[in-house]
Amino acid sequence: MTGVLIVTGGSRGIGATTATLGAARGYTVAVNYNRNPDRAAAVVEEIGRAGGRAIAIQGDVGNEADVVRLFETVDRELGRVTALFNNAGVIHLMKPITELGQAELESMWRVNITSQFLCAREAARRMSTRHGGQGGAIVNMSSAAARLGGANGSLSYAASKGAIDTFTCGLALELAPQGIRVNAVRPGLIETEIHDDMGDETRLARLGPMVPLGRHGRPEEVAEAVLWLLSPQASYVTNSILDVGGGR
Ligand code: NAP
Repeated sequence: MTGVLIVTGGSRGIGATTATLGAARGYTVAVNYNRNPDRAAAVVEEIGRAGGRAIAIQGDVGNEADVVRLFETVDRELGRVTALFNNAGVIHLMKPITELGQAELESMWRVNITSQFLCAREAARRMSTRHGGQGGAIVNMSSAAARLGGANGSLSYAASKGAIDTFTCGLALELAPQGIRVNAVRPGLIETEIHDDMGDETRLARLGPMVPLGRHGRPEEVAEAVLWLLSPQASYVTNSILDVGGGR
């Protein structure tokens, strides 16, 4: 694979693994992060040690000015983006509907939804054949929660991912005539640090055995699906949502 890949939220978890694997497959990678410069630097170093090329770029992807700066930095330092993984996302402490407030809802929508619109806009401006681009591919990060509903604590998170499913469909249809494929992955229970942010430390161990395949998934198993969707091997795949959830 060749080209320039932007991974939002690339400092840890699924994003970090996709950045590393993507670089090993030939992409030049922009590793975006928000709060963890050391973790992003470690990803870039690992890629460099393996013979790949990557840079880390700080930016809150829920902030328009940061997103514009992120893409302009990539233009300047790596060249025109060809692949975007809209991965960054957050989850809040588990709370029932009776305790949800406007501020936390809006911060969730901003990071989980608005960010994907803003990054897709900047990518489309560069990839679109109508804007002089060469085409490209986008993968949006959804979640099995979009199907399951997130009842009993994760309603706002699940709803944000439901919005991403709809966004993926509309964006794919809008950009198909402009040479850009758009798909999403919908992971199930994946072993990353995001579960700590829910305040439920037993979640992976408790729910893993209930997954039809009998275990939680690994970040690599999601990264492989993302990289396939971004690759020329998926040249006839757009407007698809790929479940990576062990049957859940
Ligand atoms: P994670 O380990 O918590 O990683 C989240 C990443 O997003 C970090 O690199 C973080 O960067 C970045 N990030 C958060 N807010 C950001 C912002 N405003 N701007 C830029 N970057 C930001 O989580 P993960 O499990 O890998 O999750 C990645 C994505 O997969 C999320 O969208 C999540 O909803 C989705 N997902 C995860 C699972 C799962 O079971 N793990 C299942 C389904 C879907 P900093 O730390 O540098 O701030």
